[in-house]
Amino acid sequence: MILLGTVALSVALAAAPALEAGPAPARWGELGHRTIARTAELQLSGHARRAARSLLSGQSLAEASTWADQVRKERPATSPWHYVNIPIWESGYRPEFCPRAACVIGTLESQQKILADRSASRADRAEALRWVIHLVGDLHAPLHAGDRGDRGGNDLRVELEGRQTNLHAAWDSGLLAVMQRREEELVKMLVRRIPLRGDLAQIRAGTIADWAMESHDRARDVVYGLLAPTLVLDGAYRIAAAPVIEDQMFRASVRLAWLIEQALGED
Ligand SMILES: [Zn+2]
Repeated sequence: MILLGTVALSVALAAAPALEAGPAPARWGELGHRTIARTAELQLSGHARRAARSLLSGQSLAEASTWADQVRKERPATSPWHYVNIPIWESGYRPEFCPRAACVIGTLESQQKILADRSASRADRAEALRWVIHLVGDLHAPLHAGDRGDRGGNDLRVELEGRQTNLHAAWDSGLLAVMQRREEELVKMLVRRIPLRGDLAQIRAGTIADWAMESHDRARDVVYGLLAPTLVLDGAYRIAAAPVIEDQMFRASVRLAWLIEQALGED
C-alpha cells in the first residue's frame, strides 16, 4: 500500500522539517540524493517506513542516501556500481552494457532481491537498503546511464556561469546549484506533484533497465543534444535542463518508494 492521499502527505510533510533540520548540504550530489530519498519516504506506507527506519537503525532514508558514495574509497570495487555506460547512439538495452552485472542496473537488481529476502541476514538487508536508496538516485541522473565516449561527460569540459567544470559535474551538482533551490523547497515541489500526476502506474511499470534507458534517452536528447558547439551551458540550456532534472528526481522518488514498498511493505 502506498499513501497517496493529500492529507496523509501534507501531515507527513509538516512533520518532516523537524526531523531534517540542519544546514543544506553544499554538494548537489548530496542534495539530489537526499531530496529523492525524502520524497520517497513520504510516499511509503507506515509499515514500510517503520521497517526501513528499523533496518537503518533509526536513520531516515535521506541520511542513508549518501552512504554508498562515502564507502567508495575504502571499497573501490563498488565504483562501477554507480553507473552504466550505454553508448549514446544505442536505442535498446543489451546486457553487455553491464559487464558481470556490476553496473548500476545489475547491482540495483541484486540488492533489491537481498532487501526483499526475509531469510537474508539483517546486516545484509540493511546494507542492501542503503544501496537501493542511493542507486535509484544515480540511475536517474542522465549521465549515469548515457555516454558519448567521454566517461559520461566527465572528460568534456564545459562552462557554467563563467566557471570551468565538466558536463558530468554540471549535471550532478552545478545545474541544480544555479537553480538555487533548497532541499526543503525541492521536496515540497515534488510532493505537490504526486496527486496531480495521472501516470504514477506507468512510472512504476517497466524494468530497471527500462528506467536506465529513459535516463539514457534524456542524456542523448537534452544533456548532449542541446549542448551548443561553444560548450557553454547558457540560460537557454539551463531552462531546458531544469524540468528534466526535476522530472528525473520525481520519477526516482516514485520508483524508490515502489521498490521499498515491494520489499518491506505488508504482505
Ligand atoms: Zn553514486
